Amino acid sequence: MNVRIVTLSLALLALAGAGPALAASCAHPETALGVSRVIEIDTSGGPIFGSATKREKEHDLLAENEVVLTFDDGPVPWVTTPILDTLDQYCTKATFFAVGEMAISHPAAMKDVIARGHTVGTHTWSHPNNLKRLTFDKAKDQIERGFAAVTLGAGTGIAPFFRFPGLNDSDELLAYLQSRGIASFTVDVISNDSFIGSPQSIADRTLKQVTARRGGILLFHDLKRPTAKALPAILAGLKAKGFKVVHMRAKTDIVPLATLDAELQPLLAKAPAAALVPFYGQIPPAVTVDGLAPAQTDIAPPARSRIPDADASQQASKKP
Ligand SMILES: [Zn+2]
Repeated sequence: MNVRIVTLSLALLALAGAGPALAASCAHPETALGVSRVIEIDTSGGPIFGSATKREKEHDLLAENEVVLTFDDGPVPWVTTPILDTLDQYCTKATFFAVGEMAISHPAAMKDVIARGHTVGTHTWSHPNNLKRLTFDKAKDQIERGFAAVTLGAGTGIAPFFRFPGLNDSDELLAYLQSRGIASFTVDVISNDSFIGSPQSIADRTLKQVTARRGGILLFHDLKRPTAKALPAILAGLKAKGFKVVHMRAKTDIVPLATLDAELQPLLAKAPAAALVPFYGQIPPAVTVDGLAPAQTDIAPPARSRIPDADASQQASKKP
């Protein structure tokens, strides 16, 4: 069954009911942040988005005062679930860069992310902090195993979206991602929620940075409770300051390597029985603050020449 087609059909059915019905589907329309625009990305050229890389990257993903919400390192049910609840409360959508081991250990949480209409990409199998320190084959396995595991945990297709742990990319690995038609995402605004323990400080810092930069790709982690606690203040602050949330989707799903899928199946079977819920529920469509269907922008960045440069890689690896 093609879940994507079902998803779109449900969304279209919901949209056919016009604005008020959709507005009513938002629990708190008065505080709704909504989704102002959907960007559907054709990743076949292996594009790079976000400013935190020295590599050649795409421009113009976002206009001024637009933001993309992203969450790395999960799913962790006791953090991911309250984050999903808050995103629902503000009727907005995010992208989750899940870790393979986490997704296969917490498949219900991973399915919940999908069921609530968010985009899921990956962030390696086990989150080694710097893929450049691994052999090319091991780094490649981390990437591929991550996609295979998150797809299994999600129980449906996921986006060919990838984020390097620690944002430590390399020409060689980016060329590999490009060969697989995978887009790489860095960030523009770092919440620093990995290091800040106070929800208020996370919110203050994020809002200050996003205001200074006038939007961008925001980085959070669905790993620690303070992030979940900070999120309502962050979303309320974004709304008060007039920022618009853009939701990214992929034109096509990743096709995981079949050998890894077979290897990982037994691990999924070991996940707690309570977590093995089937794919369920109607997917809430992305809506604007007025409860209307957001406009969609399709982008298909052309492939770039990314021939690994040995000298450049060596130079880069010497840096701290
Ligand atoms: Zn991470």
